Amino acid sequence: MKIRTRYAPSPTGKMHVGNLRSALYEFLIAKHEGGDFMLRIEDTDQERFVEGATEIIYRTLEQVGITHDEGPDKDGGYGPYVQSERMKTGIYMKYAKELIAKGEAYYCFCDKERLASLKTEVVEGKEITVYDKHCLSLSQEEIQASLDAGKPFVIRQNNPTEGTTTFHDELYGDITVENKELDDMILIKSDGYPTYNFANVVDDHTMYITHVVRGNEYLSSSPKYTRLYEAFGWEPPKYVHLPLVTDENHKKLAKRGGSSSFEDLMEQGFVAEAVVNFIALLGWSPEENREIFSLEELIKAFDYHRISKSPAVYDVVKLRWMNGEYIKAMDFDRFLEMADPYLKKGLGEGDGQEAGSVQFGEAARRKIAAMVKTRIEVFPDILEMVDFFRELPEYDAAMYTHKKMKTDTASSLQVLQDVLPLLEAWEDYSNDGLYGMLSRYVEEKGYKNGYVMWPIRTAVSGKQMTPAGATEIMEVLGKEETLRRIRKGIELLSA
Ligand code: GLU
Repeated sequence: MKIRTRYAPSPTGKMHVGNLRSALYEFLIAKHEGGDFMLRIEDTDQERFVEGATEIIYRTLEQVGITHDEGPDKDGGYGPYVQSERMKTGIYMKYAKELIAKGEAYYCFCDKERLASLKTEVVEGKEITVYDKHCLSLSQEEIQASLDAGKPFVIRQNNPTEGTTTFHDELYGDITVENKELDDMILIKSDGYPTYNFANVVDDHTMYITHVVRGNEYLSSSPKYTRLYEAFGWEPPKYVHLPLVTDENHKKLAKRGGSSSFEDLMEQGFVAEAVVNFIALLGWSPEENREIFSLEELIKAFDYHRISKSPAVYDVVKLRWMNGEYIKAMDFDRFLEMADPYLKKGLGEGDGQEAGSVQFGEAARRKIAAMVKTRIEVFPDILEMVDFFRELPEYDAAMYTHKKMKTDTASSLQVLQDVLPLLEAWEDYSNDGLYGMLSRYVEEKGYKNGYVMWPIRTAVSGKQMTPAGATEIMEVLGKEETLRRIRKGIELLSA
């Protein structure tokens, strides 16, 4: 049997990492076995529908390389692939009526007031109202009269009040519940739309879905879905309920707040491939001890039986590290393209008005990009790393003192005073040219390299940490700016 999986998002806003994980795992399960992966839009909850959310779903899947074989924009013969459109075909009502005919569902005309007066019970800290089957006892005539009178109704599942229901999850194994705990949930709402609870069963069956992957918040409803499959006489799909995603404090990852959606992560300068790699490891681990996987490699390695049941910790430190690895491995031109907006911002493009500020063209940005590529984790890291190029920051003379380099303010002053005339007379401000010239000075004096380079680098950058060595920085700054900064250093040290 061909594997068929589906990602069935509700268009309710940004793409939360938990949803993206479901999509990714569904995709990987299908592709690992050469099966088909489909996109189905679950928009039956009109109250939660958010304008533009469907576009976010398409855009995100495309950005991360999760391609669907079937979906609203790619007919595979099992459409429509949008539930509101499926509803118009009458499919949900048809199956609901089939259940009514079998005694497995019934019309319910109870109004809000009556429902509000039902007993609530507290089960495991949650308030649960179980419908009291009031309308199950209506006669055929009463039902018909209410329907004819245009009375609003819902259709409810008719669950047994005795016995148990067992269903199987691929990770959690067999789960058995007492039938008396199963509420007669609504299948068709008063607005004629099916509930998710009903539509997911009808659609997964009629679309020949073999594996359903979803968050374990659906675990508790699954016995009711199982009862629907049994009522229809259908074979349920294989269920894979995923562990919770938590933050570092082991609290459920909030939907709002910073970095929990794919869009937020893109805005924060993460690379889509790194995010996919990171999300793949949220609850799943490969057989080999390894963390970096391309999507192709994930398809090969993905065995869903290796998904863990324990909560997956969303570790931002790890995500940043992983992103840095992707940036290091990235093709330089792509890197430059992605880094350029940050380079321009960090280098203050276009505002070279203030005295002493430097303008940087494309060639300079290319050089600086090469310096930072191996040093950043996310693109915004560039901003702080390159700002000294534009403007020498205020810095303290104490920065010249370095134990390992054996430098102090006096030795630094002397070195800067020595090299100033050499730099004034020198024309070749390439990294190699400068390095060669300064190395000769180092040799003649019998100094250690760092003894000379530390004060020079401090003078031209004003920073303790820079993305490159002294001569590389000087190459980018050019002669005039380099000399200005060396003189400033001398001034500071002689004060
Ligand atoms: N529409 C549901 C959601 O977005 C889908 C759950 C499922 O995959 O069955 O959570």
